[in-house]
Amino acid sequence: MTRPLRVFYNSLGTPEMYKLIRSRMGAGLSLVTLETDEDSERRAKIADCDVAIVAAKPLTAEVIAAAQRLKLVHHQGVGYHDTVATEALTERGIRLALTPEGTTIGVAEHTLLLALGAARRAAFADAELRQGRWHVNALRPVSVELFNKTVGLIGFGRIGQEAAKRFNAFGCNCIFFDPAISEPAGLPATMASFEEVVETSDILSLHLPLSPRTKHLIGKAEIARMKQDAILVNTARGGIVDDVALAEALAAGKLLAAGLDVFEGEPIGADHKFCGLPNVFLTPHISAGTRDAMGHKMTALFANLARFQKGEPLNNEVALVSA
Ligand code: NAD
Repeated sequence: MTRPLRVFYNSLGTPEMYKLIRSRMGAGLSLVTLETDEDSERRAKIADCDVAIVAAKPLTAEVIAAAQRLKLVHHQGVGYHDTVATEALTERGIRLALTPEGTTIGVAEHTLLLALGAARRAAFADAELRQGRWHVNALRPVSVELFNKTVGLIGFGRIGQEAAKRFNAFGCNCIFFDPAISEPAGLPATMASFEEVVETSDILSLHLPLSPRTKHLIGKAEIARMKQDAILVNTARGGIVDDVALAEALAAGKLLAAGLDVFEGEPIGADHKFCGLPNVFLTPHISAGTRDAMGHKMTALFANLARFQKGEPLNNEVALVSA
């Protein structure tokens, strides 16, 4: 009898989550899960696993070193740049695959939620109403519509393009900057330079990975060049935006509002500067975290593991190259 493929789940989940994951698993697989968030348990359990599934919790070089049988790392989303120690995979020829299925639509929809929530100060209005304060008129001078606004998207891959389609449905004019796109024909936005996107957008939305090159891409200088009364939306990654500079600009009224799902140093606490600002709409890194998304992700991920078991080419494999 052949040994089942042992699949390690690198993030600490809930029993309900593990149940959902197991419900999508194919034959010949055995899921190994954590009971604590301790790296000692992680290293012990991954030691005899063939595959690791990565979500928000980073798979570090130390954990990979303990995984002597590891052949494949499967990210359950797409943001591997800051969650997988890829050099450690490259050294040992361990493969890496992603799961855009289930991720793209959830994040694109969440982008619209954050843009609308920020434009209408929805979180502030809700919190105030629950305290008995009925701001029927107070929000009029600071509340805006999406219609006819210029939306600038930085990063125009899977999520950026789906977000643009949804902004278009609201009557926005979408422009994008993405150095990887040279042929913009047929895309749901017009190509522009980085400067033009930063300087002319009413809503600036980020859809690119965090890397050493994109850290603080939107910093104090870029925020200063943004339109007075612009809205910044970040569903991509904390660290792409300089949060200190952003909080200062929002407090000073330089920007109208921000809608943020991701932050530098997650999780942020109630004492974070953003939490005291009425013009910020905040969510705790949940853009891709819907029940629908989890089901789609796991179905696609286990279909890929079935290909792996049969020695077939994988979908969404990342071509890793040595640094
Ligand atoms: P993708 O790879 O399809 O697209 C990313 C695009 O960003 C690429 O086209 C790339 O060329 C572009 N890019 C890279 N560097 C750039 C730069 N300096 N300036 C402009 N563009 C640049 O990825 P995707 O599926 O669209 O995901 C985008 C990002 O969304 C991911 O990297 C991830 O960090 C983030 N994400 C967040 C969540 C969440 O829960 N908040 C969930 C999934 C993904």
